[in-house]
Amino acid sequence: MYIRDTIAAVSTPPGNGGIGIIRVSGDQAAAVGNAVFKPVYDGGLVSHRFSFGTITDPVTGVAVDEAMAVYMRAPRSYTREDILELHCHGGWLVVEKVLALVLSCGIRLADPGEFTRRAFLNGRIDLIQAEAVMDIISSKSESALQLAQTQREGVLSKRIEDVRGYLIRALALVEAYIDFPDDDLGETDVESIRASVGEAQRIITGLLSTFEEGRVMRDGISVLIVGKPNAGKSSLLNRLLNENRAIVTHIPGTTRDIIEETVTFEGLAVRLLDTAGIRHTDDLVEQEGISRALAKIPQADLILAVFDASREFGQEDQLIYDALTGHRTIAVLNKTDLPRQLVLPDEGRFLAQTGIVALTGDGVDQLKQVVCKQFLRSTASDSREFVALSRARHRDALVSAQQNLQQFSSGLRDRNLELLALDLRSALQAVGSVVGQTATDEVLDHIFSSFCIGK
Ligand code: GDP
Repeated sequence: MYIRDTIAAVSTPPGNGGIGIIRVSGDQAAAVGNAVFKPVYDGGLVSHRFSFGTITDPVTGVAVDEAMAVYMRAPRSYTREDILELHCHGGWLVVEKVLALVLSCGIRLADPGEFTRRAFLNGRIDLIQAEAVMDIISSKSESALQLAQTQREGVLSKRIEDVRGYLIRALALVEAYIDFPDDDLGETDVESIRASVGEAQRIITGLLSTFEEGRVMRDGISVLIVGKPNAGKSSLLNRLLNENRAIVTHIPGTTRDIIEETVTFEGLAVRLLDTAGIRHTDDLVEQEGISRALAKIPQADLILAVFDASREFGQEDQLIYDALTGHRTIAVLNKTDLPRQLVLPDEGRFLAQTGIVALTGDGVDQLKQVVCKQFLRSTASDSREFVALSRARHRDALVSAQQNLQQFSSGLRDRNLELLALDLRSALQAVGSVVGQTATDEVLDHIFSSFCIGK
């Protein structure tokens, strides 16, 4: 439910900063502005113009801070309601005081994400775009940000609207026949229904095929580094991190726990996990490290198996082979500065193979490229127009629409028209939920509760 009261919140992050912004949205925004803000120059608050003045307690007349104020009259604002922003100094105490003053005018504190929720409820953005706003705020890599920006611009929403258009067209044709129960579906109408639904299915299938890549762009990947002791795992991790994070020694078995760091490779967020060297050992602490390493293998998106290329393939390398069976692995041949002794058996089991010198960093950039290539396959992902699904909510809704449409298509010739219409309506409902056309209050509560206050 949407109660049109006036809300306020601090929109800048908590803590000390240059500027703190208090945002007010709703019918009372101008009244609040006139009550607490005294412009230096005459003329009061003019829509979409900044003015300079003081924030003053309307009861005591005491000045609280010097500030800039901007009033944005509906509908030309983020929420499509009247908005007031007060830009004061960014100390947490002064910001809290200004917020308290604003709230004392009889308005209430906004819930998390409530400004964006109002933008959605007032039709300024759809649900995909609202979620994209949240993704922009939480983006930690170039690829996540780029994907979120294209979704905020409405590129994915447009595809969803296209699907809805095709389904509405097909449904209109089917429903026209329901009103005339004695008529069978005419041949040309069957063909045009089939064509419309086919187009919708084609777009949905295309979107579903982008989910894996979209998820990777948004959330990044986890990469586990494994290898026998002394293969050079820690040296590689340090190279990838550009710092001396892991302890490098010539004594085998120095990394006994799992070290975890996040970096970006060519704009992709990568969570790197360095593990204990895998070998047979009687040392209990080391055994624990090894079993933790092995337990991580199935959870990782990718394994970098580091081999010492200056030594022959041995029993310990075989242990790694055994542990990695069936997992996406890149073979990293380290110590290629030394004479090569290693011959890798069954090379076909690896997605790729690449040589490095972890000691100097040679080949490490190429390794990063090889990793990215495994996940960001489409060159289209570089483009501003790249459309990808990145949320399980969107994927699940489209999978369910796809099932309804398959059922519809297979029964088109012989099923009851009411049932056919029901399939199409269910598909429309599922597709509509992606953009929020059919989202319930509970779904909206769930989505917006993960926003921050003030957004
Ligand atoms: P880890 O046990 O697998 O983590 O291996 P470390 O990174 O601790 O390296 C083991 C030893 O190999 C150290 O003495 C490193 O200096 C050495 N090392 C690592 N990478 C290279 C390399 O590319 N070339 C050579 N020659 N030595 C290396």
